[in-house]
Amino acid sequence: MSHHVYPDTTSPDGNWRDHAACAREEDREIFFPKGNSGPCLIIIAEAKAVCRRCPVAEYCLRSALETDEAFGIWGGLTEQERRKLKRRSRRNTALLDEDDEVAV
Ligand code: SF4
Repeated sequence: MSHHVYPDTTSPDGNWRDHAACAREEDREIFFPKGNSGPCLIIIAEAKAVCRRCPVAEYCLRSALETDEAFGIWGGLTEQERRKLKRRSRRNTALLDEDDEVAV
């Protein structure tokens, strides 16, 4: 399975995928575990270890968030972790908006 398949608009040179650490991995399936418990936790940890040493993890994560990537580990985060991050971000934005309304 190929990992990043859509046009990139997030990195300065537009080709962050060329620098992806996962591109050099023999087994890219580890980035698409079939669950999030039991033996899959070991697979997820393996994938995250690759992401931790990836020089373009920030671009990868941003891209996955922008495109609502539904499956797999991107930028070192699972789909559940990305959803959580988005929820937290929306909550913080809502709180900031409320602060603005109070300040006016
Ligand atoms: S952060 Fe992980 S999934 Fe994203 S490009 Fe790097 S190694 Fe691949």
